[in-house]
Amino acid sequence: MRRDAYKCAYCGRSDLPLTIDHVIPRARGGTDTWENLVTACTVCNNRKGDGMPKDVNMPLLFKPFKPSHIMFIKNVVGKLDEKWKPYVYLS
Ligand SMILES: [Zn+2]
Repeated sequence: MRRDAYKCAYCGRSDLPLTIDHVIPRARGGTDTWENLVTACTVCNNRKGDGMPKDVNMPLLFKPFKPSHIMFIKNVVGKLDEKWKPYVYLS
């Protein structure tokens, strides 16, 4: 959700409760990977159900991507204790 800026990948809204949606539903062989998971509001998630995006006419507003290592570290470091930072950056 942080990667998607807390916006629904289908309608772009950020004022609705958000969920994590499988682009290709798990029932159809979708996996739990960065590229197959997007932020979706509850409305879109319910509407999409177990359908493929093109079947239900719900194209993604952006292509899901795998965040870079740096992006991940930056996001996490904000929450880390100061004395852990040198170790995190080195690893
Ligand atoms: Zn939505």
